[in-house]
This record gives sequence, C-alpha cells and structure tokens, in this order.
Amino acid sequence: MKTFLKTAFCCLTFLFMQNDISHAAGVVKIHYTVSFPEAQAHYADIEMKISGLAQNTLDLKMPVWTPGSYLVREYAKSVESFSAASGGQVLSSPKISKNCWHIATAGHSSIIVKYRVYCFEVSVRTSFVDAAHGFLSSAGTFMYPDKMLHEPSTVHIIPYKGWDKVSTSLEMVNNDPFTRQAPNYDILYDSPIEVGNQDVFGFDAAGVKYEVAMCGGGNYDKEKLKKDMAKIAEQETAIFGENPNKHYVFIVHNYARGGGGLEHLSSTVLGASRDNYASDQGYHNFLSLVAHEHFHLWNVKRLRPIVLGPFDYDNENYTTDLWIAEGFTAYYQNLVLRHANLSTPEVYLNAVTGEINTIENQPGLKIQPLAEASFDAWIKSYRPNENSINTGISYYDKGAVIAMLLDLEIINDTKGGKSLDDVMKYMYNTYYKEKNRGYTDVEFKQGLEKFAGTNLDEFYKKYIYGTDAIDYKKYLGYAGYTLYDELAESNDPGLGIALAGNNGKKIVTAVLRGGAGWIDGINVNDELVAIDGTPVTDINTMLNGKKPGDKISVSVNRDGLPLTLPVTILRNNRVKYKIEPLPHPNTRQLSVRNKWLNF
Ligand SMILES: [Zn+2]
Repeated sequence: MKTFLKTAFCCLTFLFMQNDISHAAGVVKIHYTVSFPEAQAHYADIEMKISGLAQNTLDLKMPVWTPGSYLVREYAKSVESFSAASGGQVLSSPKISKNCWHIATAGHSSIIVKYRVYCFEVSVRTSFVDAAHGFLSSAGTFMYPDKMLHEPSTVHIIPYKGWDKVSTSLEMVNNDPFTRQAPNYDILYDSPIEVGNQDVFGFDAAGVKYEVAMCGGGNYDKEKLKKDMAKIAEQETAIFGENPNKHYVFIVHNYARGGGGLEHLSSTVLGASRDNYASDQGYHNFLSLVAHEHFHLWNVKRLRPIVLGPFDYDNENYTTDLWIAEGFTAYYQNLVLRHANLSTPEVYLNAVTGEINTIENQPGLKIQPLAEASFDAWIKSYRPNENSINTGISYYDKGAVIAMLLDLEIINDTKGGKSLDDVMKYMYNTYYKEKNRGYTDVEFKQGLEKFAGTNLDEFYKKYIYGTDAIDYKKYLGYAGYTLYDELAESNDPGLGIALAGNNGKKIVTAVLRGGAGWIDGINVNDELVAIDGTPVTDINTMLNGKKPGDKISVSVNRDGLPLTLPVTILRNNRVKYKIEPLPHPNTRQLSVRNKWLNF
C-alpha cells in the first residue's frame, strides 16, 4: 500500500509561485524533534522547524490515512495545542479544514511549529505511547507542508527516561540512531518508528541486513526465528529475482493477544501473541504473517496498482486491484512457507481448504464482485457491520483463492514450466523497474495472459467482475486433486443465525441471508430466550431431532420487549469442503502438483 519508491515521484516545481514572494527562494529544510515528556499520559510532542521559506502563507497538513490501511482515520483528531512562531513572534495559524492549518508566515523564512499528538490506539497503523515504549505511525505524527511532499526532512528523537533504542528503516544521520532522515514524505510516511527498550536482533539474508525489534516480550526462540525468517526472505527474493533493500526492519508488537501487520517499503509492523511462539500453530501463524508482510515489499509497495502512489494523503485512493495487492499476498504467505519447507503439503492444503470454506460460507460471495470489494474497501471492508457477511466478500480470502486458480492455470498450460511466480517477476521488472509506475487493471491481466497463454476475459468476467460459482474441481484437477463437501448429504436443521454469549444471555450477532432467521424475521441484537417455550441453552442441542420444514416458535427479547416468532426450520446450508488427491493422477497432473507444492 504505498508510494514510495526510492526514486520519488516528484512533482511540483511551482511551489514558490503560489504566493507573494517576499524573500528569494531558498532551500527548504524541515526538521522534526519528537519528545515524550508525558509518555505516561500517552503524548508525543512534536516540534517542526521549517527554514528556507519564501512565501507569505504556508498550509500544514496531517494525512487522513496511512498507505496500506484503506480507511480515512482522521489522524488530525489526535492533534492538540498547535502553535506557530518565528523569532519569538506568534504567527496566526487558524485551521481551514479538518486536517489543515493555515500559517501566516508574514515573510519569515524560518518558522517553528509545535503540536502534541495523543497516542493511545493499539494497532499496527496508529501511534501508541506509554511509559514502556513509543510507537509512532508516521502518517499520524508528522505534518507536511502542502505541495512539498517531495521535500526531505530529518527527525530527531528525544526518548522518554529509560528508553535506549530506536528501530526504524529511516537512515541515520551521522551514525546517530536518534537522528534519522527521509528523502521525501512518501518515505517518511512509510517508515514507522519504535522507541523504547525493545529486544533487537538481526540476520543476513538475500544480501539484506535484517533487524528484528521485539517489543513486549514473548516466548520466542531467537535463533530459530533468525533461521526461519531468513528462509522466507530468500524464498520471496527468488520469486522476484532481486531484493531492493539494503536494510529491512521487522517491528513486532507482542501482546497478550495480538495479530495483523502493516507493510512498508523497508520495514513492517507485526502484531503477535507473546505466548504463542512455542506452539506449532502459533509459530506457523507468525511465520505466515512474516511471509505476508515481507512479500508486500514487492507486491504493493513497488509492484503496485497505478493509483497507489504517488498518494493523495487528503482523500481515499480508489483501486479495483486489492485482490492482487492483498489477495495474491495472502496466497503467497502460505505457499512460500511450503516452498521453503517451513510447512508440509498437508498443512498448506489445509490452509487452502480453510480459505475456500470461509468464502463459500459467506452469502456475500454471491453479492459483491472482487473488484468492487477492493474499490469499496474504504467504506465496507474497513467499516464492517452486522450485515457484512451477507453483502461483501474479503479480497484477501477470495483473492488468495483466485491467485491459486491462476497459478494452477499457468502451471498446467505450461506443463509445469512456468507459474504465477513468473508473472510477479515480469510485472515487477516491467512496471516497477522499467516504467517506474504502477500497473493498470488491463496491464495486470495482460501480464497474466502472457504466461497463461490464454485469454482471461471469461475468467475475469466470472470471478473478478462477476460472482459466478468457482469451478474448484477444474483447477485442482490440473494438479490431480479434487474437492468434495463433507456436508453435502446432510439434512441438518438450522436457523441461519450466529449467537454470542453476553452475561449468560444468547444474543444474535448475525442473520444469514436466505436462512430461517432471515426469512422469519429474527434480528441482530435479539436476545434468544426460548424455543417452543423451553429456555435456550445450546441451540444445536435444542434443534436435535428437528428437521427442515418443522415449525417452531422462537421467543426473543427485542429492545426490552418480549416477542414470539413462528419460524420454519430450514436445512443448514453450511459447506465443509475437503481437498483430496485423485486416485490415479496422470504424469501431467503429477508434474503440475510437484511444481505447485514443491514435492
Ligand atoms: Zn497485506
């Protein structure tokens, strides 16, 4: 998700022409000092010195979002005590929009701006500061002078008492770890900063110096992590043919329960559960997250949809290609582990089965096309509600499944000679390296067709722009596999609702489109009280012995009022697919399987 490109996309040579010029144009210099005098109360204090100005007014802006996380987060909501001054003289600086301060520089070439940022939102894309450490999401910390996104800046960090380390991919100035520089704002905003007493270790892989900053403790085995993370780095570098970084930083936030990650050009921030490293599943999940975010350093950070860089930090940046940027990355996060021998074919196929079952049990699969899920990420995926399961589909899960179909198509069409890897490498070389820009929808499709050796119009019409049923058997068949629904013959009764316990009460949290609850009017937030007059305990147990077509009465409490609904039970339409090898695969199927799963 982002703009970045080392060779910045610049821009803007008209910068000194907008206002009356009262000084000769100089070289603009921007320097931030970040301190934490009240870290315990979750504040970062920012001082911004700008010199070399030659204009009578200056608009300072805070981005409204951060690349990679497609939601307008309104970072300016956490800003307070903004002031601007020059030589001891306070400058007028009214806000003129939600994220813009309009400073009357009055001809001064140097000004000092101060503001505070409240940092108490735990996530990989928001800042968090307490007495133990400071994590700065740069887009929510550093304001930029309007129309100067191409300008370099320096950042000096004054740590809170007892903090002794800074972890960030921003390069040091004069070998001082507390002073860093960014060649432009796209890179500054793409470089989160961790300050504290994190456990830092490193390893070399693919010609890159990797740094891992572990925050919050955990039962991780450092030596094992170094070895396994290096394998992932090597495996992913081999797909693209080069690793464009010299230095890469993993910032890992360990919590009682944590997860998720955000990719950057030369770093990533990961959330993890501190006690889960020792379990097979927990460790696998962590490596899978590492593989996902690290894969992004190519896919989306450099090889990217054309609108994702240079960025508009004031508004939504719409793309129909997140199924490639995120879905393909989700596909590779598991495949790379398999190819690096960090998981078995069985574990890999289980992950695929999980993705298929997730999307096939989601009524929204038949409503929202993949391209639309991507475009509407800003208002739907990132703003889910109780009806999301009925109306939308994840461009991660379905995108990963689509990537698998395309990979199998290419491997089959080339008789095991090529794979989706070749498309990724070709697209990276062509659009990031040669053309130094993002790809359009059509260009990515052409890249796929080049290697699939077949026209993909129909494929796109059905699976990207349409909601057709996915022909899993055809594609898995290429590799000598099939799949079947273990519940196909079942006639189990169901109400088509999801429940959550709340102080001993059973509260409806979702009503599935087309299910019994949907048709007969059970609502989200209803408290399920009784079925046929018997107080509700376990719903499945209570439906034992019933069959589709049976009529029951469901008593609910809705907004404090009792209500009894007549409900006709329907068949539980849940599917549970399983992938199985075909009994007698032919040579071609075996060669596809070997290439796909690295047997
Ligand atoms: Zn991702």
